[in-house]
Amino acid sequence: MHVVCGAGGFVGGHLVAELRRRGEGPIRAVDRKPRDQWFQRFDDVENARADLREADACRDVCRGARRLYNLAADMGGMGFIQHNRAACMLNVLINTHLLLAAREAGVERYFFASSACVYPQERQSSTRVVALREAQAYPADPEDGYGWEKLFAERMCRHFQEDFGLPVRVARFHNTYGTHCAWHGGREKAPAAICRKVIEAVHTGSGQIEVWGDGSQLRSYTWIDDTIEGVLRLMEADASEPVNVGTTELVSVDDLVGMVEEIGGVTLARRYRPDAPRGVVGRNSDNTRMREITGGWEPRTPLRSGLARTYAWIEGEYKAWR
Ligand code: NAD
Repeated sequence: MHVVCGAGGFVGGHLVAELRRRGEGPIRAVDRKPRDQWFQRFDDVENARADLREADACRDVCRGARRLYNLAADMGGMGFIQHNRAACMLNVLINTHLLLAAREAGVERYFFASSACVYPQERQSSTRVVALREAQAYPADPEDGYGWEKLFAERMCRHFQEDFGLPVRVARFHNTYGTHCAWHGGREKAPAAICRKVIEAVHTGSGQIEVWGDGSQLRSYTWIDDTIEGVLRLMEADASEPVNVGTTELVSVDDLVGMVEEIGGVTLARRYRPDAPRGVVGRNSDNTRMREITGGWEPRTPLRSGLARTYAWIEGEYKAWR
């Protein structure tokens, strides 16, 4: 039994879709949200609604689990993370109770979705970006709130393996993006937010776009299918230490806006908001370890083509919503 926690969310929904596509089964999909709010729903898997902050709920969902993927978290883009630090830290309840329940149930492999937000701010304060290696998470100075909780949960995974023999796999995702995700409402991340803003500008004819920060922040954005392939390969690899799962195609926020404008066929006046949440100055992923342990995993999808698919999906959602 594959158990996907956070299956109503972006990454969890795509993971369930891929497990089905590969004929893996049975699958239990779990999320706190009402089912009509899940980004993807499949009637041929077992769907369960549960609040995984509760110990009993975690025991229920772990029953019969062989492989457990923990993608459940109260989270969102930089705007959400910076204004909801306590909520992000409360994810510790999910991570604690799920680990305990997985241990009790004798889960064969436990996956935890960590984040590049665990890396120290100081290593990401320049536009001369040096790709982050896993060991550089220490000495610790992660993103306040969200990043600290992720780092703590990573440590818990490590000690559950060392002390209790629970086999864990931990990925540090670097900004993954794609279809079937939050694209409005405050939890959306940069690629989806920028697609939506360009779509709004096209449909309203406003001619302008608001950009958070000064546009110079540097990031890498990983297409969701590449992330999912990474998760599944990591799950089979022999590595319990945290591993980066991200692309190395580095772009500025201005570049990202430019690509989406090109896809939308517009050029917009940019209104920069230096006061808005902007995150670190520059961040990139060093994939050396991931390549070694998986026998060569590397993201294959160029940002431009993934963005075109994301844009088309969000445009469809936007039209339906209007
Ligand atoms: P998401 O918000 O789309 O999905 C998370 C899901 O968890 C949501 O559907 C939510 O309802 C569910 N959830 C929250 N609290 C819950 C609870 N108490 N019980 C049960 N379900 C609960 O986020 P995502 O982008 O799919 O991210 C998945 C994981 O990957 C998260 O742990 C996130 O921190 C991590 N991550 C994502 C990214 C990214 O770029 N998307 C980057 C780094 C790390």
